[in-house]
Parts: sequence; C-alpha cells; structure tokens
Amino acid sequence: MKTIMVDMDDVLTYGRFTDILEDYLGYKPDYEGLNSFYMQDALGDKKKDFFEKFKSKNVYEDATLLPDCYDVLKKLSKVYKIYICTDYIWREIVEYSGDSLKNKFNFLHDKLDFINPRNYVFTADKSIVNCDIKIDDKLENLFGASQKLLFTAYHNKRLSKDELAEQNVVRVNDWKEIEKLLLNDFES
Ligand SMILES: [Mg+2]
Repeated sequence: MKTIMVDMDDVLTYGRFTDILEDYLGYKPDYEGLNSFYMQDALGDKKKDFFEKFKSKNVYEDATLLPDCYDVLKKLSKVYKIYICTDYIWREIVEYSGDSLKNKFNFLHDKLDFINPRNYVFTADKSIVNCDIKIDDKLENLFGASQKLLFTAYHNKRLSKDELAEQNVVRVNDWKEIEKLLLNDFES
C-alpha cells in the first residue's frame, strides 16, 4: 500500500487564524502582496501585542474541514496509508506550542474518525517523513515524495505551472482534484 502524507493547515482546514487576525486588524490585509508564508507578517510592529492576545485562543474551535475533504480522504484511506503531518510550533510564542499541539490533536481526532491517531506526525521538519505521495501548501514540504501535490494557497499562487513541472510538482485546488489524481487508478 502506498503512503500519503497530508498537511493539516490550509489543506484539511483553514482553522480560524485568518478570522482572528483580521478581527484584530479591523481589515483584510493583502496576503498575496505580503510575499510570505506567514500571514502574521502582515502585522508589522503589532505582532507582539497580537500574540499576547492570541496565545490563549484555539484556532480550531468551530473550525471545519474543507469541502469534500472528509469523503475523499475516507476513500483514499481504503487504498492508501494516510499520515497527517503538521507543524504545531508558533514561531512568535514557542512556549505556547504545547497548547497548539493539543488543539490540533483534538481537531484531528474529532473530525477524522477513520484515521488512527498513531498516524499523526507533529513536526516542523517534514523532510524526515518518508511517504510516496505528499500533499501540502508549502513547496519545501513536498521534498522526498515521488508524487508531489501542491495545494493552492495565497502564498504559492505565483508559482507557475512550468516552474512546478520542473520540480515534478502538480498543483491541486480542491479535494475533488485530489480524488481525480489519486483514485482514478483504483476505479474499475
Ligand atoms: Mg499547510
């Protein structure tokens, strides 16, 4: 059975980080213009104050899975071994990362009842994960896989099809596209 590493944030769920950030700022920042993987870089010198207020919040409270994610992942789990791999460390408030880890675990356990918690991998360094297929919105995290699927996010939109093809990466925009790519071979 082939293995798939699936990222959590911005692939399975958006969490509520964006809402909390925009509520704090009082407007929606130009994320694409930021040219950064980290949305919080839009905060500039307000970062410290923001994280002081943010550290007690659970971004997964009331968060939902992305459309079709549950059904497609469940189908995939019948023919592939699924590992959910997610970074849990907040760079700005490292000492609160234990809370983040707990919130992530609870969300996964609650929403994806068919995936064994043994298959959760909590790490910021996904290069150590050896899976045949990797699905992530961060290009670097696809390293090492023989099939690499980049999930579209504001920070990777500017990567062209040709640039991605050079690195053997295919862009996916939603879970239906993942289904088409990974389940076609199994359908009779
Ligand atoms: Mg992600």
